[in-house]
Parts: sequence; structure tokens; C-alpha cells
Amino acid sequence: MSTFKAPKGTYDLLPPDSATYLAVREAIAAPLRGSGYGYIETPGFESVELFARGVGESTDIVTKEMYAFETKGGDRLALRPEGTASVLRAALEANLHKAGNLPVKLWYSGSYYRYERPQKGRYRHFSQVGAEAIGAEDPALDAELIILADQAYRSLGLLNFRILLNSLGDKECRPVYREALQTFLRGLDLDEDTLRRAEINPLRVLDDKRESVQKQLGDAPLLRDYLCDACKAYHEEVRELVTAAGVVFEDDPKLVRGLDYYTRTTFEFVHDGLGSQSAVGGGGRYDGLSEMIGGPALPSVGWALGVDRTVLALEAEGVELELPATTSVFAVPLGDEARRVLFAKVTEMRKNGVAADFAYGGKGLKAAMKAANRSGARYALILGERDIEQGVVQLKDLESGEQTAVGMNEIVAELKSRLG
Ligand code: AMP
Repeated sequence: MSTFKAPKGTYDLLPPDSATYLAVREAIAAPLRGSGYGYIETPGFESVELFARGVGESTDIVTKEMYAFETKGGDRLALRPEGTASVLRAALEANLHKAGNLPVKLWYSGSYYRYERPQKGRYRHFSQVGAEAIGAEDPALDAELIILADQAYRSLGLLNFRILLNSLGDKECRPVYREALQTFLRGLDLDEDTLRRAEINPLRVLDDKRESVQKQLGDAPLLRDYLCDACKAYHEEVRELVTAAGVVFEDDPKLVRGLDYYTRTTFEFVHDGLGSQSAVGGGGRYDGLSEMIGGPALPSVGWALGVDRTVLALEAEGVELELPATTSVFAVPLGDEARRVLFAKVTEMRKNGVAADFAYGGKGLKAAMKAANRSGARYALILGERDIEQGVVQLKDLESGEQTAVGMNEIVAELKSRLG
């Protein structure tokens, strides 16, 4: 062990587990790629101000959890705590919304950073795959994103997740509700911090996980009863489209989520095997965000799914992903000349699309065969001095144990045909 350890709240992704992470990212991305979402990558840090304005001055993410710092040049930057604000910033900066093809549909995958109290499922460095559809107000788009996330989870074999759905209203109806909620909250027995939050962002109090607070919220007014006709109709349409797609959800009138930018549709994917950190993903519509960061009005919708928690959900359900072996052939040279000859063969195989690995370090036959078995390869290629003289190589099927001599010049074609 070295003197150093991974920083608190972080962990290293190592083989073989890391293969599961890659497969999860891939599974979440696949339905997006096939549905018109283009890949976007933005910097790991942005101006602090982007998140303050975008995510919200009063959110925990901005007030407590941001890794903010000043550069030597005097810029105030922050490691990104989430993806949406950056993606929208990038789309606006590149004028993607002016190319005359709305919505701009983008997907991303990357690391995010929040200075949170670490626990299982909650880390200071975590990984998300996300999708944003920018510049269209269309309930079918909200439905599409919910359906694609559902499809991604199902393709992984997950079953015990639930989709919670709500509408947060818009700039017409939400302020009216906000007032009503505030009036209600002022009458409760709440600590000072919570009362302050009730004044700045009362909806977030609904999200308070503490029993003492939840107990008092039983009679809280619900946004559902305050939605204006346009929001009601929009929400109803989203619900119908999702239902028609055979995707089951639960209406959750108290779902608000921890970011300020959401309007209308909000949803969360929760998994029941994860204990307190049960949200595996979430998203919603953010019609006002573009204007909040200085852009034009661009109604948009998106989500982000947490890769770490999705992997934990797989573990909780006992789902083992079927990960194809990465190496098909493992080459075992016996002696110096065999090493040169076989190494050249390995290179030839790789060029021909046969995934091959090699016993490095001058191992003896026994250790090399052990490495071959551990590699997951279907075949071992063993080359000794006598084989070289005869112009053959030993091809061993590691599943059946069967071994045959194959001509050196035929072996690549033989392997290609055997591996299909
Ligand atoms: P949010 O941006 O807070 O809605 O988060 C979206 C998803 O990212 C969550 O549902 C989690 O799966 C994941 N996530 C958020 N924060 C963390 C964290 N600190 N550690 C691990 N995953 C997280």
C-alpha cells in the first residue's frame, strides 16, 4: 500500500467490477443513441455563477455541496455538481438552438462532485449518464425521456424500481401555490433553519426527510390542487402517453427534487433495495433555466441517472450482467524463440479482430495456463520448440479441454471461424 488513499467519499473503480460500470453506462446510453440524442462532453468545472443561477442559490447543492475555488487567474470556478446547467450553457454558447432543428437532443456521461456526507450510495465523486432535450414544449418529449429511462433500467434486468411523477406547475400557478404553502409552513413547529428555507424555497421543505417534519406535512396544500389549466392538461397528456407505452408510474404530489430549475413535469426513479439513498435517477422539465442563465426562452426537459446507485441496485436485486469475456485467445509461449513467434501472431490476430492476450514475464507452462484460465479466454494457443519445428501451434479449447495442432499459417483463420 502506498501512503495515499482515495479521498474521503470517493472510491476507485477496479477490474473486474469496473466492467459492470461500463456496461451500465452503455445500457443507459443505448436507448438514447438510438432515439436521436447526440453525445456531448463539457468541462469538469464551470463558473460558480452558472450553478448558482442555474441550480439555485438556496439549494443544498449550491450552498453546502459545491467544490468551489478561485483559480490563480482569479476566476471563481466550481467542479460540476450536476450536468444540466453545463449542457444548456454549452448548447447556447454553440448556438445549437439556432440551427433550426429543435429540440436539440443531447446525452452525456461523466463525473460529478458534491461535498456531501458520505454513506453507502452517496459519494463526493459520482457518475451520471444524462439526457437533455432542449427547445421544445411537447408532452411527448417528457414521455419519451421517461420511457427511455425505463427501457434502460429494464434492459439491465432491474425490476424493483418505481417511477414517481409530479408536476411542479409553471410561472402562472406555482407562485400562487408557493404563497399557500408558505402560509401553511409558518404555522408549523419548525426549527429556525427550516423556517428560513420555508421563506426562500418552501417547496423544498416538502422534501425534508426528517420524520419530525414529515409528520407535520400531512395537511400541507398540494401543488396538484393549484395547477393552472394549461399545466393540468400538459401533465395529463404526459401521464397518458407514458401509460400508453406500458410504463407504470406512481403519482407523487410531494415530489419536488432538490434543484430549483424544474417546472411542470418532474420525476424520480427510486429503487426499493437501496435504503435511504433510494433515488437512482431523476429529472424533469426546466422551461425557465435558459433565461435564468442569460439565454432565450427554451423550454426543455431532461434526466440524469446515477451510475453508482444503478450498480448498487443491480447488486440489491442480485442481477449479474452477462458480460462477454474481453479476451478470446490467450497465447502461451514456451521459450525465447516461441515468445517472438507467438507475439507476432498475437499482433496479427488483434489486427484481424481476434481479441488476444499473452503470457508475459517468461512464465512456466503451469503459471501461464493458470493465467489463461483466469483471463476468461475461450482458447489457449501454446507454442513450444517442437511446434516451431513442425510449423504448428497447439490450440486448446479451455472449455472442453480438447487440444489440436493447427498450422501456423492457418491459425488466425481457424480462430476467426471458431469464434464466429
Ligand atoms: P440529482 O442531480 O440530485 O437529481 O441526482 C440524480 C442522480 O444522481 C441521483 O438519483 C443519484 O442516482 C445520483 N447522485 C446524486 N448525488 C449523488 C451522490 N452524492 N452519490 C452518488 N450518486 C448520486
